[in-house]
Amino acid sequence: VALIVQKYGGSSVADAASVQRVAARIVKTRRAGHDVCVVVSAMGDTTDDLIDLAQQITADPPQREMDILLTAGERISMSLLAMAIHAQGVEAASFTGQQAGVITDAVHGRARIIDVTPSRITQTLDEGQVAIVAGFQGVNTEANDVTTLGRGGSDTTAVALAAALGADVCEIYSDVDGVFTADPRVVPTARKLKQISYEAVLEMAASGAKVLIPRCVEYARRFDVPVHVRSSFSDLDGTLVTKEDPMEEPIIAGVAHDASQAKVTLVDVPDVPGKAARIFEVVAAAGVNIDMIVQNVSASGTGRTDVSFTLPAADGRTATTALEAVRDEVGYSRLVYDDTIGKLSLVGAGMKSHPGVSARLFHALADAGINIEMISTSEIRLSVVTGAGDLADAVRAVHTAFDLDSDQDEAVVYGGTGR
Ligand code: ADP
Ligand code: ASP
Ligand code: MG
Repeated sequence: VALIVQKYGGSSVADAASVQRVAARIVKTRRAGHDVCVVVSAMGDTTDDLIDLAQQITADPPQREMDILLTAGERISMSLLAMAIHAQGVEAASFTGQQAGVITDAVHGRARIIDVTPSRITQTLDEGQVAIVAGFQGVNTEANDVTTLGRGGSDTTAVALAAALGADVCEIYSDVDGVFTADPRVVPTARKLKQISYEAVLEMAASGAKVLIPRCVEYARRFDVPVHVRSSFSDLDGTLVTKEDPMEEPIIAGVAHDASQAKVTLVDVPDVPGKAARIFEVVAAAGVNIDMIVQNVSASGTGRTDVSFTLPAADGRTATTALEAVRDEVGYSRLVYDDTIGKLSLVGAGMKSHPGVSARLFHALADAGINIEMISTSEIRLSVVTGAGDLADAVRAVHTAFDLDSDQDEAVVYGGTGR
């Protein structure tokens, strides 16, 4: 008998029939004798639809109310799932994040879990029932306010509960068969990985591969939670995420892409000490996280240079407004904003000890006729910015150039809208 946490994403519970199908899976696990705690996301694109609805009311809704609105999505799926399990003859009860003891800080919209006190869940499991928990939400106990954990946050709920309950495994069920060498929606020849280290999958997640979100992986690594990423539409084994094994670590784990970034360029910034500090102080004060930065030494004689950086396109307006306010103080001549960019990242823990990886990547892009706008590197990642229209071709070209293509059947995407 094991204690299993199963998380079902929105694509797995998109409609009533899917809820019943997922319920049957849970019932099967329960009837095999295991204790099952389920974390569920909102049905299909419910969260996006709720955000669109709020936007029709006001362009700038209060964060606190957004959180209350969005948590409604998971309440719908959790109760329907409990009903479906019940209808199939197994006892089940659903709980909000607050009831399940998911305690967070007070940052609405992207709260961090600071503690999990799942006594209500333990009690439910002890009674032989399946416990269903609403993902993506918690409570800030100081203000007694409901919070959400940021997009994709149900992954984090699942791992946090698995850690707090001491579960044997945390299964993340999605609409693909596991973690692939690239997004199967873009690269049909992507290969499923049997195993991947926390380190490598964290870098993939941080680079835009949304099959797991970064905070979930950080949490799993910190508390040593074994994570099994798999499909709710098939019975295939998925991908096991575990501690790295230096002997097994491949040079390249995969190619991730991110189409949600934008680029800001400040033209003619005076090339004197303190300018970069001031620019990024202003951006940070606006609450915007930046990613790549490029600054050249000033071309001879002009004493001026261009500074470019990337950021989430969703933060574009906030960042540009803040920077325009300090234009005279910083002394730049022009701000150029471009949200038609894409970011491609090649990830692999073995990369650091292998020369020639960047040359191979640049060659692949050159052969495909794709222009590189920015480059950045870390020990285990190499990222380039391309035009948005070139991104998918770039991913396929790089995937092939690093011999990642599978010779098996095409990777299956079972559901979801990819939204
Ligand atoms: P869920 O609704 O289950 O949370 P998500 O849409 O958040 O599902 O995540 C699953 C999606 O992640 C897949 O449909 C796939 O398009 C995308 N994805 C991106 N990169 C990868 C990758 N390397 N391996 C698998 N899936 C990936
Ligand atoms: N429903 C939330 C979202 O769409 C959380 C999740 O699916 O994990 O972001
Ligand atoms: Mg997800």
